[in-house]
Amino acid sequence: MSGFSTDFQLVGSKNVTVIAGRQRILFDPQKPPRNPASRQSVACVSHAHSDHTAAFASSIDKYATKVTLDIHQALGGKTPKSQPVNLGDRISLSDGVDLHVHPAGHMLGACQFAVEWNGRRLVYTGDFNPSSTLITEGAKPIPCDILLIEATYGRPDAVFPPRESVYAEIAEWTSSSLKSGKIPAFQVYAKGKAQELICILNKYLVVPVVVDSTVAKVSDVYVQHGVPLKYTAADTSTGKEKIRKGGFVYISSKKFNRRLFPSGHRFVRARATGWSKIFPMKSVDKAFTLSAHADFQQLLDYVGEAEPEAVFLTCGDTTTFRAVLKKIGVKIVNAGRGTKQQMRLSDFI
Ligand SMILES: [Zn+2]
Repeated sequence: MSGFSTDFQLVGSKNVTVIAGRQRILFDPQKPPRNPASRQSVACVSHAHSDHTAAFASSIDKYATKVTLDIHQALGGKTPKSQPVNLGDRISLSDGVDLHVHPAGHMLGACQFAVEWNGRRLVYTGDFNPSSTLITEGAKPIPCDILLIEATYGRPDAVFPPRESVYAEIAEWTSSSLKSGKIPAFQVYAKGKAQELICILNKYLVVPVVVDSTVAKVSDVYVQHGVPLKYTAADTSTGKEKIRKGGFVYISSKKFNRRLFPSGHRFVRARATGWSKIFPMKSVDKAFTLSAHADFQQLLDYVGEAEPEAVFLTCGDTTTFRAVLKKIGVKIVNAGRGTKQQMRLSDFI
């Protein structure tokens, strides 16, 4: 006997680690893992949002898609000991463990990871979006034995409208704002949401799109990876000229700052986020329910289609979603909090 379990084990709360034989896999650790417990430790970074990229600050071996690495680097981050992977790749780790990379929607380069070992499959979704967008294909559920899934919108009031209708709403509001002489200014996430918004404006309207420098850097990576986006960075001479002339749409990842613009310009402010369905957004004139995550029903659909024996909730509204899953008979697992409390997942099944 090697002393190792023949089933997956799950350890940690902030840094969720899956153990398969002697192979340890950390999924989107929230703190940079120091001193990897063994040379057979790897981290998987599912996408470029900063709450998922702490592993880049550590010396552990990492897997991430090329897009994720490029975005992190474009914003000044370092990615030591990182191996770029492609969607669809299958990587052989130690002890007969296979790692398979699947699309997650959510943003360009976002992926789900499936671990196969001893005839069992464990899936880590990361943040995912089952709805196809102008840029990304929707994430598909991966049938598995153990499912580690996000629950950002794991609450029954998170019901999102069809994406096409949100696109139409954004285009109509932007168009009518411009016609009334006002400049629409959007505040959105620089990674993912900003590029989808640029795409919507490029496709449905003929209007210059001016973006802040952070949005421009991320958008440049999207363009390098084949997504056709038209925009101008506000801090370039062309951008300054477009701003001076008026009649443009402004996209920024920061709170709107009126002092950056000529005094004669009139603005209307907007946000585009799934949270607008749940919380009133009083600081802006208009809010659009454009989410990069699964809504409540899509989370349930994923669990229903993946048919796991047990589910672990990685982040989000875990309390509410855990109660919902328990009510419909889905088994929930908790992770052990230290190496002495490693849990055999089969103990919970
Ligand atoms: Zn994310």
